Amino acid sequence: MDARLEAIKDTVLARNPGEAEFHQAVVEVFESLGPVHDRHPEFLEAAILERLCEPERQIIFRVPWTDDAGRVQINRGFRVEFNSALGPYKGGLRFHPSVYLGIVKFLGFEQIFKNALTGMPIGGGKGGSDFDPRGRSDAEVMRFCQSFMTELYRHIGEYTDVPAGDIGVGGREIGYLFGQYKRITNRYESGVLTGKGISWGGSLVRPEATGFGTVIFTQEMLKTRGASFDAQRVVVSGSGNVAINAIAKAQSLGAVVVACSDSSGYVVDESGIDVALLREVKEVQRGRLKDYAERRGGVTYVDGGSVWDVDATVALPCATQNELDGAAAARLVGNGLLAVGEGANMPSTRDAVAVFQEAGVLFGPGKAANAGGVATSALEMQQNASRDSWSFEHTEERLTEIMVGIHDRCAATAEEYGEPGNYVLGANIGGFVKVADAMLAQGLI
Ligand code: NDP
Repeated sequence: MDARLEAIKDTVLARNPGEAEFHQAVVEVFESLGPVHDRHPEFLEAAILERLCEPERQIIFRVPWTDDAGRVQINRGFRVEFNSALGPYKGGLRFHPSVYLGIVKFLGFEQIFKNALTGMPIGGGKGGSDFDPRGRSDAEVMRFCQSFMTELYRHIGEYTDVPAGDIGVGGREIGYLFGQYKRITNRYESGVLTGKGISWGGSLVRPEATGFGTVIFTQEMLKTRGASFDAQRVVVSGSGNVAINAIAKAQSLGAVVVACSDSSGYVVDESGIDVALLREVKEVQRGRLKDYAERRGGVTYVDGGSVWDVDATVALPCATQNELDGAAAARLVGNGLLAVGEGANMPSTRDAVAVFQEAGVLFGPGKAANAGGVATSALEMQQNASRDSWSFEHTEERLTEIMVGIHDRCAATAEEYGEPGNYVLGANIGGFVKVADAMLAQGLI
């Protein structure tokens, strides 16, 4: 790493102790930014990096609620409003027991660059709670969401901060959160949350957008080698929102998705995952992958283990951070891997990224490859602002244009900085320069 940036990085790490995921995200970005600071010494003089690493606002709050047995439960809520240089803070809410400040900050930090890459007017933020919705009744999830919003409402708004979903937060949770916001504020402020239901201000394609976008980005990478998704053997991790829609899109382009996973195990389905059945098991019945395997029949279900043991030509990690390490990357490369498109945020460890890059595997980092979700959230905000709703075809066309644009911008930036094909460098520099320019123009705030 550039010596000037090394010193700034050391200060950031020391100031944010015990936040391993945030450290990892910061280091990964800093490693790309040396050449930018050679060209733009004004960024150093204005302390852009130091300011970028310090969230504009961090909110931590108590979320009390009662479970179905009448017992009091206490969770912790977070919203980190990281950077508003380009627009209102924008980023999802994650409900998962592993959530703590370090995870929310890594996600919020990544979101700044991702949102800049989309070309839409949105800043970066993220939030969530250590609440675990798994195994909770609808009524419990509703009471939790209402309590969460009873604090959060005072910090968000159409022009301030616009949350959406992430792990553990889908259409059901957004519905309860929106209902409580409306009740407290007495305003039908559609633009305050995205990922809403279609009949009450949501956008078509938003549920599919992250998974679809990841596949579109990966397809653009494949094209640079004269390849396509047709007849690729694909492995996807996860079986949630992003994974299911990535599977659907990849198969619509002629790929065979032979495996996917959840946190309990993985399934190998050599004839290709049955997306309709997977949707029914996961989205309607809120079941497990094991239930899919039982209902599908004739497939292999592996309890525990790693989905990355299954050989593939394209890997789409769509579950969670640091789920694919150096050893798994080496196995995938040894088995003939051609491309990786990250649907999840930071799913590959730094070791894994190094293995992919050294082997010449096409590697699309999450902050570029999974930006389709937030980009379509921005399209939802546009529709809300104009009290309009667009057709599926039109919205998907816009998503495709945006993803191809992000791919081309990352590729052109990597080329401009002397590392053609390095999408990590392209995404980090492309996102950073846009935000840094806006921060310079807006003065020392
Ligand atoms: P969901 O909650 O819908 O699904 C998450 C999936 O990942 C589930 O299959 C879950 O399995 C699995 N998973 C979660 N944690 C772990 C773990 N520790 N080990 C193994 N598997 C795990 O979330 P999304 O699909 O929305 O999000 C997936 C990823 O995509 C996240 O990294 C998120 O930040 C990222 N992302 C999401 C966007 C969106 O629009 N939703 C936008 C951009 C990025 P189980 O059910 O067993 O927990």
